[in-house]
Amino acid sequence: MKSYTSLAEIMPQLQDGTTTCVELVKYYLKNIEAKSHLNAFLEVYEEDALKKAREVDQKIKVGTAGKLAGMVIGIKDVLSYEGKKLQAGSQILNGFEAQYNGTAVQRLLEADAIIIGRQNCDEFAMGSSNENSSFGPVLNAIDEGRVPGGSSGGSAVAVQADMCLAALGTDTGGSVRQPAAFCGIIGLKPTYSRISRFGLLAYASSFDTIGIFTKNMEDNAVILEVIAGSDAYDSTVSLEPVPEFSKKLNFAGKVKIGYIKETLENEGLNEEIKEATLKKISFLKEEGHTVEAVDFPLLDFILPTYYILTTAEASSNLSRFDGVKYGFRSFNVQNLETMYKKTRSEGFGEEVKRRIMLGTFILSASYYDAYYTKAQKVRRLIREKTYELLSQYDFIILPTTPTTAFRLGEHSSNPLEMYLADLFTVQASVAGTPAISIPNGTDKAGLPIGLQIMANDFQEENLFAFSNYLLNSNRTN
Ligand code: GLN
Repeated sequence: MKSYTSLAEIMPQLQDGTTTCVELVKYYLKNIEAKSHLNAFLEVYEEDALKKAREVDQKIKVGTAGKLAGMVIGIKDVLSYEGKKLQAGSQILNGFEAQYNGTAVQRLLEADAIIIGRQNCDEFAMGSSNENSSFGPVLNAIDEGRVPGGSSGGSAVAVQADMCLAALGTDTGGSVRQPAAFCGIIGLKPTYSRISRFGLLAYASSFDTIGIFTKNMEDNAVILEVIAGSDAYDSTVSLEPVPEFSKKLNFAGKVKIGYIKETLENEGLNEEIKEATLKKISFLKEEGHTVEAVDFPLLDFILPTYYILTTAEASSNLSRFDGVKYGFRSFNVQNLETMYKKTRSEGFGEEVKRRIMLGTFILSASYYDAYYTKAQKVRRLIREKTYELLSQYDFIILPTTPTTAFRLGEHSSNPLEMYLADLFTVQASVAGTPAISIPNGTDKAGLPIGLQIMANDFQEENLFAFSNYLLNSNRTN
């Protein structure tokens, strides 16, 4: 069977009988097996996927199939799928099984998507390279000596290497956009609160957003319209109406675009990424759009703000993993207190423990105001400044990452270097605005470069259409 790149290509073929969902699933299962050394999947739902495929094939015959019939999709190991293991890439959840379907998963199933497996990720979604997974790193299919990015590395590689058509990851500070950029695919972080977080294992709740990996814009848009929207199980989810994004991908007219000067002048920015971004800027100018350099002097404060707030939230969110309620428990203990200690010391990996300790310190009585309160204030400033820009410009563009995919092990001994991988993605996370990464060519070594586009809250419709236009311009440019 040939490889498919979009649902739009698959659907007519399912209708006229050229292919079936069962054949599609078998194709992806074969690929997953052939590429198992990339370590993208932690578990493959072979039987369930084939069963669902048979059901959907029947529904297609009688004309009752849902919107995502033919969509074979993978999910990051932080999304709850009833009866399936759920571990967030961690040993502390060893043996834990999800008790219910998260809302996004439930909506995928109701729309007849076929969930093919659970994907590897950094432990509790903390990381930028997928090297923090207790199940080992994921390899970038373009160069197996390099990382795929993180934390949703398994989901990105699964789409990149044709092991499924699309995948759901999560993006707290860049974990969908950054691996999408490293793997040469599309990665969307919608507006915070666009998609219910019910059934998503929390890392930093005021940042956590489910995101979508695809190879084309239409698939991304259709998945968002299925999974987004109000939900009785999550009181923080937005009540904003969800347009049919996938039907509104045509972009027309002239827009005003700002690009952040400080990102292009940043000394950590790779030259080839800078050139690729400048090339897009010239293209937009030639096309008659207004493109202006804008200042964002707060750029240097975004990463510290992000890491103070997310570690504080993580230390609180992860306190529930104590050996009593879920998964792993250390038995080599004398009393309740040593049970807690040993379980958490043995069950969590290094990076997670580092962040729990940092977050606990930040929230401690003597330092709370100096760090937590201060960072909340700075977050407010970053948000205001970002919204100010987005009231003057339709879109903000910037590189997704300062470098292309780095080598396995290159930054693993230096957490600060690793944190810099998120330099350009954290702004949309701190502000809560939607942002997408699209492929923007490759460097001389053939490694993918990502371009990031940000829009104002709940402007995904425009964001998709404009990004699609930019993506298409890659082919003509
Ligand atoms: N790399 C960032 C971090 O480690 C982002 C992670 C994410 O978005 N889940 O926190």
